Amino acid sequence: MQTSEMSAVRIGFVIAWATLAMAGVGFFQQGSNANLKRRWYPWYISLSWVVVVSYLSYFAPSWGVLLLALFAITPLFIVSIRTTRFCEVCGAPSRKKKVLFNKPMSCSRCGACFHGW
Ligand SMILES: [Zn+2]
Repeated sequence: MQTSEMSAVRIGFVIAWATLAMAGVGFFQQGSNANLKRRWYPWYISLSWVVVVSYLSYFAPSWGVLLLALFAITPLFIVSIRTTRFCEVCGAPSRKKKVLFNKPMSCSRCGACFHGW
């Protein structure tokens, strides 16, 4: 493989990451449309997963390493989709944590309660 081809692929991944990161910060952190975020979040995480996996499959030294990495990172993405909720009031993202005595979670930005969570 040519060195220039390798760096072109690297640049491609950097651009993909930068785009995802900007979308994550701009849309999911700043925006206030909770419904829209809820609809797009699984796609966003899935897309990040695809980028990570294609990066790994490109640079992993062997299939064993790639499989091991897949087993290590895939649960993180699934957990991220399953535990992230967006506030109904202000749209801020929150991570579900194990809370003692089933205390209701509240939004870290506006203090609204996450009912039935
Ligand atoms: Zn809120």
